[in-house]
This record gives sequence, structure tokens and C-alpha cells, in this order.
Amino acid sequence: MRILVRRLARSVAPALAAALLAAAAPTTPAPGPVRVIGTGGMGCIQGAVRLPDEAPGLQTIRAGKSAFWGHPDTIAALKLLGVRAHAAGMPDLYMGDLSGPRGGPIPGGHMSHQMGLDADVYLDMNPHPVLSVAARENLEPPSLVRPDGHAVDPARWRPMHAALLKLATELPGVDRVLVNAAIKKQLCDTVTGDRSWLRLVRPWWGHASHMHINFVCPAGQTECPARPAPPPAGDGCDASLQWWFDQLDHPAKPQVATKPTKPPALPAACRAIMAAPG
Ligand SMILES: [Zn+2]
Repeated sequence: MRILVRRLARSVAPALAAALLAAAAPTTPAPGPVRVIGTGGMGCIQGAVRLPDEAPGLQTIRAGKSAFWGHPDTIAALKLLGVRAHAAGMPDLYMGDLSGPRGGPIPGGHMSHQMGLDADVYLDMNPHPVLSVAARENLEPPSLVRPDGHAVDPARWRPMHAALLKLATELPGVDRVLVNAAIKKQLCDTVTGDRSWLRLVRPWWGHASHMHINFVCPAGQTECPARPAPPPAGDGCDASLQWWFDQLDHPAKPQVATKPTKPPALPAACRAIMAAPG
């Protein structure tokens, strides 16, 4: 079915193709013990569990367009983040994409979020009225970064954003937390005292309104991909951060066009997991 849809997808508009892929995607987790499988960004998960739409300190948003499944350790860590954020006096955290019920590519073309080990958490520290899941469908938390990309928007940035990022780095199993370079720079410029946690906060494209929390391959899982090497020692407030701002002023020359490469295929074990009865 999915192959047929992919063939079809080449001949129709991308939006329709995405809708067709979404329609063909599994809607239930693959039963059985938890297995996290993947290579090169492509992967899947068996035995995923879903983050509830409401948990202490957390609310999902855009549930109709998002996926909230993950490894049980991922879900437990996110619930812990909600509890700790609430205890710190923060408003409920708005939760974005985790993974699909069985992982794999999700609409929007994420090359991560495929194995139940990634979560997008909005950096929205404004008080949130209590809204139904349906009323949260069209929420779009605003960017914290100035339009020129060089700094955070001082009208929006609050010390509580730094406190939330620190809480994220302290969760069990966190590999790294990705944010816009301007947000990382704001931390570099303002965090005093313990700065060791800055090592896990790394710059990435976009991520101006949310952080992406990436968890390590959980203990006991032998089919996880080699994730990128752990962040280097130090707070990362160095030339590696400046590189991102240099790109804004003098973007690197575009690569000479090469033959389009085929997107990597899902591992065979994942194709079986995707096709397994729910
Ligand atoms: Zn993400």
C-alpha cells in the first residue's frame, strides 16, 4: 500500500502526497516488547506508548497534525519535565511532534522523530488558558528569535526560558537539546553559575519557537542506530556557535548540483513492523 502511495505521490501535488502518506500510516503501535530500530535517520519502534493529551504540566497542541508516540522512557522523561516545570511555576508546556505509533517518516519530512526518541517542546512561557484539545488544534506559539536571526527577541525572551532549557538537559537519557543559534547565544551570554548544562544545548536550523529533545538509545536496545557523537566537552559558546551567525551574513556557496540521491530506505525489520497487524 505504501509503495503504491509513494508511486502515486510522484505524480500528484506534494500536499496531496503528504495527505496520502498520512492516510496510509499505521494508527496503532506495533504490539510486542519494545524494540527501537534504525540506521541513518530512518527507523521505527515496536511497543511505543502515547503521551496523553493532558498530563501534569503538559498539554499537546495541533494533535490532528502531530504524533505523540514514543519509547516508554521518552514518555516518562517528558512527564517528568511537565512535573518539574509545573513545580518551577511555569505554565503547562505545549508539546509538539514526538513519533508516529510505529515511528518511520512522519508528514513534514522529519529525518528524525522516527524511533520514539525525539520530542518537540514549545518554548512558550506565556500563561495558557485552559482549552480543549480541539481548541488547541491551531495554536502556533511565536518565535523567540528576531527576524534577522542574530538574537532573541527581547520583548519575548524571559529567564524562565533558560530555566526550562536547563530542566530539559537534566532529564534522564537526554542526548542533546536543539535550539536556534540565537537562543543558544542568549544562554551563552546570560547564564551564570553552573554552565555545565549548556554543553547539551546545541544550535540547529529553525527551532525558534520550540526545542527538540533527543534521547539516547535506551539501555537494552541493540538495534538502535549510532546516534551522532555526544556533544564535545565545554559549553559550546565558541567558534562552533559563531559559524551559525556567519552563515546568516555570508551563506556558504551552494554545493554544485549533483545527481539527486535516493532517500534512504527503512530497514527491513521496520518494514515488517509497519506491516504488522495492530
Ligand atoms: Zn524536532
